[in-house]
Amino acid sequence: MGSVISYDVECPKCKQEKGFNDFYYKNHEEYFSCQNSECGFGYSYKWKRNEKHKLVTKDETENHSFDNLIMIETVYENGKETITELKV
Ligand SMILES: [Zn+2]
Repeated sequence: MGSVISYDVECPKCKQEKGFNDFYYKNHEEYFSCQNSECGFGYSYKWKRNEKHKLVTKDETENHSFDNLIMIETVYENGKETITELKV
């Protein structure tokens, strides 16, 4: 799968250029992690999948167009993980 990896990206939290970003341009999934050990901020955007790693759709059909998928936002901050289901 094709992805664009960027190093030394400015972290939105600690503002240091220690972020690592991985963006999958084919399916728009994204992963960010700050390499500053005192910060530890990170996030990911991934499409919702079921236990069998199959994509979950809003109308529960096999229509896997982007506007029928559910994006899961995970934010890592202060050692905690916050998961939000984004319904656009
Ligand atoms: Zn940071």
